[in-house]
Amino acid sequence: MFSDQFRRGEMEKGKFSGVRSSRLISNLSNAAWKIFQSVNRRLPEGEAVRPKWAPGPLLKSYERTSPPLGFPRETDSLCPRCVKEVRDAVITGETALETLMHQHPGEIKAQILEENGQVIMRKTCPKHGEFTDVMATDPKFLERIESLFFGRDFRVAEDAHIHRHGTSNIKFGRGAVLTVDLTNRCNMMCNPCFMDANQVGYVHEPTFEDTKAILDRAVSFKPRRQIIILFSGGEPTLSPYFLDAVAYAKKVGFYRILAATNGIRYAEDIEFCKAAKAAGQHGVYLQFDGVSEEKNKHRGVGNLFDVKLRAIENLASVGIKVTLVTTIVSSINNDGIGQMICCKERTRRGAGLVVIVIRTAEYLRSRL
Ligand code: SF4
Repeated sequence: MFSDQFRRGEMEKGKFSGVRSSRLISNLSNAAWKIFQSVNRRLPEGEAVRPKWAPGPLLKSYERTSPPLGFPRETDSLCPRCVKEVRDAVITGETALETLMHQHPGEIKAQILEENGQVIMRKTCPKHGEFTDVMATDPKFLERIESLFFGRDFRVAEDAHIHRHGTSNIKFGRGAVLTVDLTNRCNMMCNPCFMDANQVGYVHEPTFEDTKAILDRAVSFKPRRQIIILFSGGEPTLSPYFLDAVAYAKKVGFYRILAATNGIRYAEDIEFCKAAKAAGQHGVYLQFDGVSEEKNKHRGVGNLFDVKLRAIENLASVGIKVTLVTTIVSSINNDGIGQMICCKERTRRGAGLVVIVIRTAEYLRSRL
């Protein structure tokens, strides 16, 4: 609704009528949903559908369980300093990897509390002392989000390949998105970069055999409705095995194969785009911070906006779908979200949009 107004340049004129219409539609939808639920409760319960992939009939909402939510509550947590110590000990060979599965190193209890208008997590490690983290600055909002939890899904199968990580075992679900990092190298040097690509002083790149083993294990996940494979990094297209990895994921039967990318490789080389499509790549999550050079320049690469446009053109021309992924940084590109929603560069090519995170400019400065 708001995007329509932006498109017509009628933002001011239509602002309030847009809000009113939006509320009206929202109220009507709520009323319709309540009527539907009330009728549905009176009807005799039919037999639940049992899809081929499922271990049983689909669970009704009242059959789904939920973990303890709300606050105050106690939860399982980790000591951040023990985690680093254990990780280093495993890397150097001082501690066996199996320790993580059987001995629960670094695990401690934490309290989730509301204090001074915030929701905090407080925990005490016998070795490293107390840690306090802010989980939410708006307790009502967190309460609302938790209330929307729709309940646990099917219990996953016990198996020796993927469900043996100790306490962090996945216990419920039917598969979702598996992110496979193919490299920690990148042809950019962004701030922010979640993965600290190029910045840890060593290159980590799984071999093709490693990647195949990850995909083979993932495909055995049960119950499995579908799993999307998201090749990531660093910049995954820099991996010498990128195309092979895409082809292998397709061969073993994954439904959607995507890459999280800055788009440079796709913009540079249409033949690479064709090869990726032929290997089985379905789409990209394309880093895209705004619809002008200005909104992208904090990444430190000149003409980056033109690169993004070329990547979109090339990808669309070979039939690879594009979803723009925007990192909103307060005071840098937070005022460009409306333009992102309706920009012609996106809508003309049918690209989706995901806004992934909000960070402040102070955060960026602290990392310079
Ligand atoms: S393009 Fe992505 S992986 Fe590369 S440095 Fe930027 S944020 Fe990190």
